[in-house]
Order: sequence, then structure tokens, then C-alpha cells
Amino acid sequence: MAGLAAGILVLIAVVWLAAGSDASDGDEAVLPPPSPSPSAAPTRPPTGPTASPSPTPEPASPLPIPPGCSRWPEAVFPVIEKLELPAAICLKLVDRLDALPQSCGDARACYTPPDRTVWKLTNAAEEQLPNSPLRSFTAEFVLAHELCHAHQHWQVIKEPALGPEFGLASWVGTPEGRAFAQATQGLPPNFIPLGGGILENFANVCAAWLLPTSGLQQQWVDAFPNVQRFARAWLPK
Ligand SMILES: [Zn+2]
Repeated sequence: MAGLAAGILVLIAVVWLAAGSDASDGDEAVLPPPSPSPSAAPTRPPTGPTASPSPTPEPASPLPIPPGCSRWPEAVFPVIEKLELPAAICLKLVDRLDALPQSCGDARACYTPPDRTVWKLTNAAEEQLPNSPLRSFTAEFVLAHELCHAHQHWQVIKEPALGPEFGLASWVGTPEGRAFAQATQGLPPNFIPLGGGILENFANVCAAWLLPTSGLQQQWVDAFPNVQRFARAWLPK
């Protein structure tokens, strides 16, 4: 620090000397004040690099982050970028089970349509719990699954016969919901071994399809020709 300060002082001294010699060409003693400003340019290069020490650039979030909401992990950016979602959706990463809304039930993650919020227990909190149902899935997969529920909600919101006041269950009446019901007709309700019915089956198919790193597309989508056809026709890739 002292070295830098000394360097700056030397620079200022040099600048003053230069200004003095310039001024000595004429007898306008008023000249010195403007000269510090041109001299500011040469002093900048040495201070520039130290003033901005390689900022750690955070990748821009594909969604605006409403006040009080968490940042989306970068691993789910591709899912966010591809899916149609309700505006102003929020992520809340919480570190206690009792901070999850009651409507989450036993799940450690959920989507609540009224406030358009994806809730998830942090990984650290998750690890403290015995027999976590989500432990066999990555945080990215769980978030992708919840984003797929948010996408279902968007289908409900934009459907003229429905609207924002309708809940997720109304998704089955949207064109996408009807197409998924048709694609899964004849399959056992738990063809994806997580149970939960058509809303959950869709969220799992959607997450497996949109998150290739999950490695689940083959068993949950491609293994069922009609489901695979549905995914190709209705889901982005
Ligand atoms: Zn779900």
C-alpha cells in the first residue's frame, strides 16, 4: 500500500512538473488546473488493474430474482431457459423442514401455485435427515421437477377456460395435460416408480427429458414409445 501511495505521489509530482513546463511556455498561470485532468488518463493504467481485481462474474440468471428469493443454481439454467414458466417465479431454499409450507406435505421440495414459488430444503439440511426420499436424486433434478410443476401451472394460467385462480390439478384439462393422459393411457399409474399420479408422472418425465445429466430419460421417457412421442411433440429439447 505504501509503495502504491508513493508511486502515485511520484506520478502526481511528474504530472505537476510536466504541467509546470507546459505552463512556462506561456504566461497563463491559469493553465495548471486543466492539466490534472489530461494527466488523469496516464495515471489510470497503473491503478486500473488493482482497482478491479479479476471480478468473479456470476452468470446472469435467466429469470429475474424477486426480493427475498434465492438464486437459481446454474445447473438448472438450461431447464429454465427452455420451459415456459409463470412470470416472477421464486425459489426459496430453506434450511429447516418447518420452513417448508404445509402444502409441501412430506416432500422436501414442492411448488406452490398461489405464490409461484419453488421450495427446496438445502442440500446441507437434507443430509441431516434420515431416509431422505430425495437423496437418490440430485438437487438439479429435484429443482427441474419443481420447475416442471411451475410449467404445468403456466399451462393452467394461459388456458382461456382456466386462469391464475386455478390450481395445478386443473392441468389435466389443458391441451398438454390431455395429451399426456393419452400418452400414458394403459401404463400403470406408477410407471415411474415414484407414485403420485399424473401430475407427478409429468413432472418426472419433463425433468428427465430436460435434464440429460440426470440419466433418467432412457428409463422414464424412451422406454415408453407414447411417452417419448409426447415429449418430442410437447416438451422443448
Ligand atoms: Zn412433484
